[in-house]
Amino acid sequence: MAEHNSEYNFGKIEKKWQKKWDEAKIFEVKENVKGKEKFYCLEMFPYPSASGLHMGHSFNYTIGDVYSRFKKMQGFNVLHTMGYDSFGLPAENAAIKAKADPKEYTEAAIKNFIKQQRSLGLTYDWTRVLMTHDPDYYKWNQFFFLKFLEKGLVYKKKSPVNWCPKCETVLANEQVVNGRCWRHSDTEVVLKDLDQWFVKTTDYADELLEMVEKLNWPDRIKIMQKNWIGRSEGAEIDFEINGEKWPVFTTRPDTIFGVTFVVVSAQHPKLSELVTKEQKKEVDAFVKKIKSVKQEDIDRLEKEGVFTGAYAINPMTKEKVPVYAANFVIADYGSGMVMGVPAHDQRDFDFASKYEIPIKVVVEPTDFEIYEREGKIPRAYTGEGELVNSEDFNGMENKKAKEAIVKFLEKKKLGRKQVQFKIRDWLISRQRYWGTPIPVVYCDKCGMVPVSENELPVKLPKEVTFGKGNPLLSNEKWLNVKCPKCGGKARRETDTMDTFFDSSWYFLRFCDSKNDKKPFDLKKVDYWMPVDFYTGGAEHAVMHLIYARLFTKILRDFGMLEFDEPFVQLFNQGMIHGSDGVVMSKSRGNVVDPLDMIDKYGADALRMALVSFASPDKDTMWDEKILNGNFKFLKKVYAYFSSLDGFGKSDEKTESKLNKTIKKMTEQIENLKYNLAIIELRNLFNILPEKTSKEVLEKFLKLMQPFCPHVAEELWEKIGGKGFVSVAKWPEAEENKINENFERQEKAVEKLGEDINSILNIFAKDKKKPETAYVYVIPSEKEFLEAGRKNVEKKTGLKIVIHAVNDKDKYDPEGKSKRAKPGKPAIYLE
Ligand SMILES: [Zn+2]
Ligand SMILES: [Zn+2]
Repeated sequence: MAEHNSEYNFGKIEKKWQKKWDEAKIFEVKENVKGKEKFYCLEMFPYPSASGLHMGHSFNYTIGDVYSRFKKMQGFNVLHTMGYDSFGLPAENAAIKAKADPKEYTEAAIKNFIKQQRSLGLTYDWTRVLMTHDPDYYKWNQFFFLKFLEKGLVYKKKSPVNWCPKCETVLANEQVVNGRCWRHSDTEVVLKDLDQWFVKTTDYADELLEMVEKLNWPDRIKIMQKNWIGRSEGAEIDFEINGEKWPVFTTRPDTIFGVTFVVVSAQHPKLSELVTKEQKKEVDAFVKKIKSVKQEDIDRLEKEGVFTGAYAINPMTKEKVPVYAANFVIADYGSGMVMGVPAHDQRDFDFASKYEIPIKVVVEPTDFEIYEREGKIPRAYTGEGELVNSEDFNGMENKKAKEAIVKFLEKKKLGRKQVQFKIRDWLISRQRYWGTPIPVVYCDKCGMVPVSENELPVKLPKEVTFGKGNPLLSNEKWLNVKCPKCGGKARRETDTMDTFFDSSWYFLRFCDSKNDKKPFDLKKVDYWMPVDFYTGGAEHAVMHLIYARLFTKILRDFGMLEFDEPFVQLFNQGMIHGSDGVVMSKSRGNVVDPLDMIDKYGADALRMALVSFASPDKDTMWDEKILNGNFKFLKKVYAYFSSLDGFGKSDEKTESKLNKTIKKMTEQIENLKYNLAIIELRNLFNILPEKTSKEVLEKFLKLMQPFCPHVAEELWEKIGGKGFVSVAKWPEAEENKINENFERQEKAVEKLGEDINSILNIFAKDKKKPETAYVYVIPSEKEFLEAGRKNVEKKTGLKIVIHAVNDKDKYDPEGKSKRAKPGKPAIYLE
């Protein structure tokens, strides 16, 4: 073995093994492998941007790949694959800018992505790859859309929607950030009344919320999901306005006696019926001014309103209170009208103070008095208490009063219990080209008619003109079709689907991505799903992860799936910032290209570095020194294996360390503490003797494999390992071989080295540099430390002489040996 070249040529090694893995198809998987449990490991699929793989991608894929490799070695049948979220506005805009065809442009980007991903040595089953812009894929989007339509889960409605003038398309509520477009932070979103397609997310709100609790997901994501769904219990109470009953929603029916105004959403479809002649001008101007229909923005906005001229009659008190149109209630929240109770709701209090509306206390705390000055309270009282000024309900605990008042109203048919959700139906239509065409046509006679299933896919036409409005409107040939019902003239729907529709079920398609008869085979999906380990960025906490959960539940109810939740375990990786601590961005010039790093240090070193900066769930900073450190480690490992001169017998100490390392690393990888596992691996390498058994070396390479698979394969081959180490069995710790004494000894040696080094640091200021360290230990520890003497010499660069304190011939000019204590040797440097 000694004749092998000891130069670590990572470029050659990595290409060699990527090719061998491909040829042997070791990462291609099938269902129902005897004696193996399935494990589905998935990284969120990327939008294939033309600029290629960035560091965040490399990080995400490495996390998933280490886990996949680990699980595979543990004997699982692991599905690990990749796809491309290739439709969408960014691709369309980039293609327009580059004066290229979006399809060609996107496919070139995907090709580049695949090449780059391969260079990372990822264990993907490439036979399953999918691209959402492929008609073989989006055909099934259309199929699902038609199924949804049939079941009333998708509908068309005219509604005020968020419109980005730059994107020239509608945005989902989730895509509006601070009243601006998520892609154009310089562009204010405007409201437009348009006919739009919606998916009935709200039908599943309760279940989406309930099941969050059971998921093995990070808490912060669970909280974000819960807030997004936003369930609140309350009542709908009928107020009379101009002789007509108008339902008004409240979460505090106990405060109904304190209502001093009613708020109607400025986007309420029947607002004009309320507005009096005198107030019309003012109300119209106000409505025009409103900018967003997004709840989050509404929560942040300054609460504003305008008097409509109408009065509502409180069904309990028969009092007449003014009706205000305001910006803090959205049209489809409950009935689009809410009670104004300024004494017990801070938002209402602020509003009432601003417009000089009376404030009436109806809940008093039991243990103190609400502070009043000149008959006015300084802020709303939102705590619990007893009812006052509430007629028959006076003295009742307000919690009990909630129920009692709703019961009373229900009896009189003036109100009813109701649950409200913040989550809105999902707006899925976009007025752009690069997406799945919505498969319906409009006939003059028959109205909207679904395209029949056997006509799918409705393909995107190639010939379109970009630059003015929806490009699909520019292809007359594509637009004009025969009506499937009457054969008369009809026109195609020109809206395309939100790309989140595509990504809501791609993980199902991976189970059976080549099926041309069905979106997927139930048996195959049943075998692989749910995804056992899903990793991606926290930015998908609401949109993608809510829609994917929703899709799963809808398809389950169609009888197409037999489980409730798609992702058992979710892992959010941290962000890798530039070395200046700021998010990597071109404009800051702190971007590090993973491909450059692979060229310089190799994929194995990059993979190791990415997971050794910090715990993978924490944000961290890019540091090329750490990458270089990992590279040097691999070089040392390579040199060690290259210079091996046959195998020997393993000793007790090595076995102990090895088994302890196996035990620790198994737990650490399982718990995604990859950074700690790498420290263990390095420590194990440091104690490997010049000659040891093949078995020890094999186990070491197995432990290394998930992190740096190429070099592990190369060295595995070098020592005559059987087959691929990538699919070898993960070693099991033999507890009986672990000797804690060795562990203690190792720690003592480690500590001695550190102690000497810290004394050396103090010494450094003096002129004369010491050459020898005299170490005085209690007699029972002498042999113990003597065994580690060489390591300490390596670590300190000094000659080490170890004396027992009772050693008569010891050299001890300053009498330091008197200070030695058990476990704490004394040190003298000269
Ligand atoms: Zn925009
Ligand atoms: Zn027709």
